[in-house]
Amino acid sequence: MSASRSTSKVCAGISPHGKSLHVLDEIAAGEVIIGLDGHVVATPDKYTVQIDEGRHLAPNGSIWAFANHSCLPNARIDFAQFALVALTAIRPGEDVTFNYLTTEMDMAAAFKCGCGAPGCAGMIAGFRHLSRSQKAALRPWLSDSLARAFELSVANEEDEAMADQERAAPRRDGGQARG
Ligand SMILES: [Zn+2]
Repeated sequence: MSASRSTSKVCAGISPHGKSLHVLDEIAAGEVIIGLDGHVVATPDKYTVQIDEGRHLAPNGSIWAFANHSCLPNARIDFAQFALVALTAIRPGEDVTFNYLTTEMDMAAAFKCGCGAPGCAGMIAGFRHLSRSQKAALRPWLSDSLARAFELSVANEEDEAMADQERAAPRRDGGQARG
């Protein structure tokens, strides 16, 4: 979170949705676009990225914060490299996007998405608000924090399903009146 690792391939841009992270030079799939410089804060806002429960990265003026949301993004946040990394090749003139629902449990400022992607989540309110199948579809790109929360909720659901089954079909080796 100290040294700046931004390439010179992006700059602050303007999109119909406000500021954007604008691409100046061809970026290859898998390439680090910009490192996530900043400092950790406890309270999220419009420009922070959640790194764990109660821990959010504020950008300290770094332009990575201008990367807009898309439900079909061209980049993702790679927490191992602590950087925005390209998912696809990105051409000059395009904007870098990532899916906010892969990092934010609860959005500080929810909004209606107009990305037009098939399977667009519509209201972007946070990972917590997605259906089970929407969450499962995002699993490969989730932050460690959200991935842990998801696995836990799946495990809890399985426990509950097991308990329901046991209630519906009590085991026959117990509970019978004797004699
Ligand atoms: Zn969308």
